Amino acid sequence: MRYKACRNCRAICEDKEEVCPICGSNDFTYNWEGIVAIVDPFKSQVAKILGHEKAGIYALKVY
Ligand SMILES: [Zn+2]
Repeated sequence: MRYKACRNCRAICEDKEEVCPICGSNDFTYNWEGIVAIVDPFKSQVAKILGHEKAGIYALKVY
């Protein structure tokens, strides 16, 4: 299965998703790199650094 990343918030989505479940954007790319899972954005230092406010799986880089 192919995964795509939201260009707006970098959430990783399944190919069948039409809009991003995190931010509602439909601007996706298959050109992404790295993966990070945010479980608890309020406790996670990674979430703060990357600017994610919602739990989810995100790409580290989106082109
Ligand atoms: Zn998004």
